[in-house]
Amino acid sequence: MSGISIDMCGLQRQYVNLKSELDDAVIGVMERANYINGDEVKIFAEDLQNFLSVNHVIPCANGTDALQLALMALNLEPESEVITTAFSFVAPAEVILFLGLKPVFVDVDINTCNIDCNKIEEFITHRTKALLPVHLFGQGADMEAIMRISQKYQLHVIEDVAQSLGGTFQMGNEIKKLGTIGTIGCTSFFPTKNLACFGDGGACYTNSEEIASKIRMLAKHGSKTKYFHEEIGINSRLDTLQAAILNVKMRYFSQFISARINVANQYNSALINVPEIILPKTQNGAFHTYNQYTIRVINGKRDALKQYLHSKNIPTQIYYPTALNVLPVFLNNLKTKYDCPISERLCTEVLSLPVSTELKQEQIEYITENIITFFNFYGKHNDT
Ligand SMILES: *Cc1c(COP(=O)(O)O)cnc(C)c1O
Repeated sequence: MSGISIDMCGLQRQYVNLKSELDDAVIGVMERANYINGDEVKIFAEDLQNFLSVNHVIPCANGTDALQLALMALNLEPESEVITTAFSFVAPAEVILFLGLKPVFVDVDINTCNIDCNKIEEFITHRTKALLPVHLFGQGADMEAIMRISQKYQLHVIEDVAQSLGGTFQMGNEIKKLGTIGTIGCTSFFPTKNLACFGDGGACYTNSEEIASKIRMLAKHGSKTKYFHEEIGINSRLDTLQAAILNVKMRYFSQFISARINVANQYNSALINVPEIILPKTQNGAFHTYNQYTIRVINGKRDALKQYLHSKNIPTQIYYPTALNVLPVFLNNLKTKYDCPISERLCTEVLSLPVSTELKQEQIEYITENIITFFNFYGKHNDT
């Protein structure tokens, strides 16, 4: 199958398929020149609010700012502890540290790669003020356990929904959108995320009127009234151009999620019998949106598989190569050294395969056939 071209997240193809709507949206903004806080931003915030069934959505410049604004809004005393996961993109722990707070790293569940809720309570001290779970790869961490712990110890919960917008978690009889269960949800519209703009974008959401107005103020240089600054804030806005793009994509968002799940189902059925691969598992109660389809490759064969697939023009990614607890930024700035053996092991085993709303069945077959070929070949030539 030469001439097959596969990219990790299908951005070009998605643009081609929605070209006329996206072009019109962008041109409209340029014609009106309403680049800052244009109507498109308000329309997007309302649409997302309705989609999430949440009271307030505050758009901002990126997902990292969303996390920073959320933590700033909680007004925590310096050196307060925030419990988070060791297996994640750096942003949440970085922001905790940046604000003079202390990230406390809890190891993850080997099956879901999300924070291991059985280990959270042993890290709670009188300084612990918040839990910051990351809903990794498209599915929720165990929000039922997290909310139980937060209520028992009176902790805030900030949900990092950057990779899992559109995902849900079953809370008792109710199915709730991720990010609307804790105190504040934070998401990103970075091009690789489930709902993606053409650059940077993000949002905070919450049901609390008080927190929402605080975040709005903090994102506007600490002012409610123009040129009257009450607190130390930042400048964080979603560009009108990005909002215009997101308004188009919002119409297709449910279809995008179905397409991702479809890709995952095809991978699952093709790879289920490959002995040295462990397929992604879904947490009880979670609806997985497959922002990433991440397998584990055991017996030390991950890097060789990655290289083999690369030679067949199949891109893959390692999310993540280093656990946060052993990154220099945290080792050098925290007095405590955390031990997270599962996270560190996952860093040597995980491999994310291409997932996109545009991936075709024949491309998925090409990928899975090559994975199977690799293991047949490798097994023959590397018997122990
Ligand atoms: C992408 C991502 C972020 C940060 O989003 P940006 O928009 O790139 O700032 C935060 N947390 C997680 C888990 C992410 O994957």
